[in-house]
Amino acid sequence: MNQYQHILVAVDLTEDANTVLTRAKDIAAFNQARLTMVHVIEPLSVAYGSDIPLDLTTLQQEITEQAQHRISELADRIDLKDQDQLVVYGRPEKEIHRLAEEKDVDLIVVGSHGRHGLALILGSTSTSILHGAKCDVLAVRVGSK
Ligand code: AMP
Repeated sequence: MNQYQHILVAVDLTEDANTVLTRAKDIAAFNQARLTMVHVIEPLSVAYGSDIPLDLTTLQQEITEQAQHRISELADRIDLKDQDQLVVYGRPEKEIHRLAEEKDVDLIVVGSHGRHGLALILGSTSTSILHGAKCDVLAVRVGSK
């Protein structure tokens, strides 16, 4: 059986990220694969439109700093080197697909709440990542059962 060579783990900034990251690390160790962690920051102008009459620069900067702080905390837990931690801007699913192709990733690991009802109809990040991915995607079940 072919082993995975390069695993991309996508983390948000919730407590669930620890669970997702630990699972990805174990799989990487088992496969002797490279592990890259990514967090995508959605620019406020993209999330809320560019026509709001406010200067979002300071807020955006604070969000970025907090994200970077949290990402290095997470990375420290599993001794992930700086070059294997990525913080990028954009839409999570789009950036994750782009990075997966660019970096020859053969497995993407994401967390999934396995929502149902309205959230399922509206979609979720993990679902969006699964659709359109050109490699395997592992959804690690997180959150309340
Ligand atoms: P879901 O519960 O289906 O909405 O998916 C949540 C999962 O999507 C998280 O555990 C992460 O794996 C991934 N995810 C959500 N937001 C981001 C983000 N901004 N950057 C990277 N991955 C994300």
